[in-house]
Amino acid sequence: YGEYNQKIDYVFKVVLIGDSAVGKTQLLARFAKNQFSVDSKATIGVEFQTKTLIIDNKTVKAQIWDTAGQERYRAVTSAYYRGAVGAMLVFDMTKRQSFDNMAKWLEELRGHADKNIVVMLIGNKCDLGTLRAVPTEDAEEFAQRENLFFMETSALESTNVETAFLTILSNIYRLIS
Ligand code: GDP
Repeated sequence: YGEYNQKIDYVFKVVLIGDSAVGKTQLLARFAKNQFSVDSKATIGVEFQTKTLIIDNKTVKAQIWDTAGQERYRAVTSAYYRGAVGAMLVFDMTKRQSFDNMAKWLEELRGHADKNIVVMLIGNKCDLGTLRAVPTEDAEEFAQRENLFFMETSALESTNVETAFLTILSNIYRLIS
């Protein structure tokens, strides 16, 4: 009810991209609803979720888009990227290939999105530390080279999820206001 009556100052579209099964859907569920489900395929077909927050006394509605499995068929379309002011490039830190594919995802993003888009690299599943296949320094180096923000998260344990979204949203705000 409260949200219904709120005056929205800004709507920020942020897209999640990255290989299948890296945890995009669970990161979104954690941020938007503080939920996590082990069997997340129930969420297929959901296009985006919103969360309204206050930044610098302004009401910002974050509209976070999930690929909903499209990436498996290489069918992430330009419509997905249209209007996005932020992007989260997500890899699974226990799957080296999902990190190596970040360059390809970044290239696709840069080909479709606005050139001022704020991009954050996310190494998800940091709760599985013993299975780590991507050293933090490798990800940091890539992020620095490509001018991306970087954070390691766990959607399962809720580590850094809120911080990651707040960081990207406040940097978008800073750019736009
Ligand atoms: P998506 O295909 O990128 O949207 O990935 P999902 O969000 O569907 O997650 C794929 C699988 O990884 C599911 O079995 C999730 O339960 C699991 N998963 C997602 N995030 C985490 C995490 O932070 N830690 C662990 N251990 N598993 C996760």
